Amino acid sequence: MTDELRIFRNFIKKNNIKNSRSREKILEIFLNTEKHISIYELHDLVKRQYPEIGLATIYRAMNIICRSDLAETINIGDGVKRFEHKYGHRHHDHLICIKCGKIIEMHNDDIEEIQKKMCKKFDFKMTDHKLQIFGYCKNCLD
Ligand SMILES: [Zn+2]
Ligand SMILES: [Zn+2]
Repeated sequence: MTDELRIFRNFIKKNNIKNSRSREKILEIFLNTEKHISIYELHDLVKRQYPEIGLATIYRAMNIICRSDLAETINIGDGVKRFEHKYGHRHHDHLICIKCGKIIEMHNDDIEEIQKKMCKKFDFKMTDHKLQIFGYCKNCLD
């Protein structure tokens, strides 16, 4: 069993959620996807293998998967919620192209450090943060 599935099953048990085979199938497909996938893109992939699983089921499953900390959502401002893997992935921020929708991941220790300092300055306890920079990628600028 993978770490992810073990974490997921523990979460399900701890929270008294009814077990569901479909949900685990959705988790497996999600874990095999590329980064930053929308619910519609995920639905397309699930449909290919399990046509009986509908969008609403996928939506509910992704909610639980996020709550279990295996995934998190990213909102790039186009009204479409996207999901990315969280477990085993280092925290990162995003550069988002407003023309083609390309999402570039970045991590910079200095930026992280400055954010921590700013929180300290305001006696603010950070639980999470998202930094998004919007603009044009190299392709869209050419
Ligand atoms: Zn672009
Ligand atoms: Zn990302």
